[in-house]
Amino acid sequence: MVTAKSPLTGLLGFGNSGGFFGPAMRNAGYDHMVFEGKADKPIYVLVSDEKVEFREAEHIWGRDSHETEDIIRNETEDSGKKVRIACIGPAGEKLVRIAAVMNDKHRAAARCGIGAVMGSKNLKAVAVRGSRKAEIADDTALKGLSKEAVNKIKSKPEMETLSQFGTAGVVTLINAMGILPTRNFQRTAFEKAMNISGEFLAEKFLQKNKACFGCPVGCGRGAAVKESGYEGEGEGPEYETIAMLGSSLENGKLADVTKANYLCNRLGIDTISAGGTIACAMEMFEKGYISKHDTGMELRFGDEKLVVELIDLIGKREGFGDALAEGGFPLAQKYGHPECFMGVNKMEIPGYEPRGAKGMGITYMTSKRFRT
Ligand code: SF4
Repeated sequence: MVTAKSPLTGLLGFGNSGGFFGPAMRNAGYDHMVFEGKADKPIYVLVSDEKVEFREAEHIWGRDSHETEDIIRNETEDSGKKVRIACIGPAGEKLVRIAAVMNDKHRAAARCGIGAVMGSKNLKAVAVRGSRKAEIADDTALKGLSKEAVNKIKSKPEMETLSQFGTAGVVTLINAMGILPTRNFQRTAFEKAMNISGEFLAEKFLQKNKACFGCPVGCGRGAAVKESGYEGEGEGPEYETIAMLGSSLENGKLADVTKANYLCNRLGIDTISAGGTIACAMEMFEKGYISKHDTGMELRFGDEKLVVELIDLIGKREGFGDALAEGGFPLAQKYGHPECFMGVNKMEIPGYEPRGAKGMGITYMTSKRFRT
């Protein structure tokens, strides 16, 4: 869990992710780290049990999250001690308000623009290598409780779907329920839902399931796309990414959603907010509130090739990407049409249409992320 004042909402912000960084931090002896102030120049922090080093990071400033992790691993891994790394990509460095903190390459603590906070501190990464073990008061009792919990989890039928198809496995269900954001929430079902489903992902791209530390479910998707123009390897996409970079943009090509997802991970961008912001821009364009003069290009729902290009521009804050990098609310506000922004308190809502998913609607209204 990464917490800070959100540059997107101005409220309490937090992003959370799975993977292996959290347990590694605990094995180094820490439950929580607090970073105050700003470094004079780019640095990364290496925590090896009680030893904390501030190392210069000018040579990795500008590098994407995968390159950053590889370089820091090369510089810090010794005598077989595994290093776990959480870092920002170019988006966090450029203070993109929808930037994420990435760990274990494919896991994103993404919401609330938390990556921009690291960028504002010139903090490129935190690396931890722990050699201790968490102290356990009653080892036998804990093992018994863990076994009981794992058995309960495994007995749930929905866990089988999660293992088999990942979170993407709910796309067709959510579509059938009429709560799949489509066309920037103007519609609630997408005729190409099957083409961006977990079943499609499993059949075409899945290499192997991936699991976070100690998890019996393994909802992560180790995937590879070989189709010309969309080649890539990584993890995901998750349901939220598919909803926001797929159906909400009327993008029915899973290879493209996957490529956009991998690019977000490398640049360090929240896929939910990226999709929400792009959808907002597309709606404004199609309704004539903005034009090619503002954007430099045609912005149309269903133009799948556009998504990757726009994400690249956001990460680099280039061209119209600079306006998108501020998030959907400032964008819609700037052009006088805040009604095109689908969010609460300046943050894009995730992939559940609240008019149908009423419980989610209440969450959007009351969550600390969205409210003071
Ligand atoms: S279900 Fe397991 S593998 Fe999936 S995100 Fe949660 S901890 Fe990670």
